[in-house]
Amino acid sequence: MTEEKKLVSLIIPCYNEQESLPCLYPEIKKAADTLSNYRFEILFVDDGSADQTGSLLKQLAREDERVQYYLFSRNFGKEAAMYAGFCNARGDYVAVLDADMQDPPSLLPEMIGILEQGAYDSVATRRVDRKGEPPIRSMFARMFYKMMRRISDADIVDGARDFRLMNRNMVDAILSLSEYNRFSKGIFGWVGFRTCWLAYENRERVAGETKWNFWKLFKYSIDGIINFSQLPLSIASWSGIFLTFFSFLMIAFIIIRKLLFGDPVAGWPSLVCIITFIGGIQLFCMGIIGQYLAKTYMEVKKRPHFIVASTNREDAVKIQ
Ligand code: UDP
Ligand code: MG
Repeated sequence: MTEEKKLVSLIIPCYNEQESLPCLYPEIKKAADTLSNYRFEILFVDDGSADQTGSLLKQLAREDERVQYYLFSRNFGKEAAMYAGFCNARGDYVAVLDADMQDPPSLLPEMIGILEQGAYDSVATRRVDRKGEPPIRSMFARMFYKMMRRISDADIVDGARDFRLMNRNMVDAILSLSEYNRFSKGIFGWVGFRTCWLAYENRERVAGETKWNFWKLFKYSIDGIINFSQLPLSIASWSGIFLTFFSFLMIAFIIIRKLLFGDPVAGWPSLVCIITFIGGIQLFCMGIIGQYLAKTYMEVKKRPHFIVASTNREDAVKIQ
């Protein structure tokens, strides 16, 4: 009797990827065909695209029974799309890859080979350079990763992509983190497991445009910090303690000066400076608390991460 072939799930979030899909699918097919010892399911999650992505996916599903499509009711973001993939993946191995070929499917055989050896639970990829990316963006990205490594307990690697292959144990662990505010790079690091890192040179997307502008990335990085670190809250309380201490020193200074030299009237500019300074710090700290509160508010509401409007799989998880 032959042993049942292992199932590999590929999760591909797509948002307005009508130009990339015709390049991506043949590559995936090629990778899947070389791995004839495995069965494949390909989960395309259409994150509310406004272009022809949805109908392209339906077409693919008609031609290839391994293809499953999940069309969201609107754009929920890449994190939600990946989560939908994880909720629906049944594979022994599960991989996430971008639709734009920046995560080359040709690496899959090597990744599966590494997991098969049993020494690792996950194979992750990082790019060794940031070729083709605006220099300012690279600089801020580097700063972000450096800081994250210091302040959070999740091991977040610089240049890490979301392109990863995991075994079932790790996927189940990821599914157990059902938080609303998802920051996958942090979640992958947080769950731990033995991870092998593959490095490769950055590739530019085959077609279409990146959906991330600088402002979106900035907000995403703030999300990352707030989701995986409480340091900003500590900064808020420490600056309070520091200011209180400083004001005691000032009071002592003023009393002593008054006793020794009388009371020469000091100007109001210094006072105005002090008031605005302290006012600024107070607002800043309230803002930090507000950020955490806003996240908590969203978590407490327990809204679903995604809503699937249409799919070709009968027992699909549609709302989670
Ligand atoms: N994506 C998505 N929802 C979004 C934005 C992006 O599903 O709201 C998908 C997109 O289709 C692609 C992947 O996420 O497959 C990465 O997006 P992109 O290439 O724009 O990001 P970059 O590679 O520039 O970081
Ligand atoms: Mg990309």
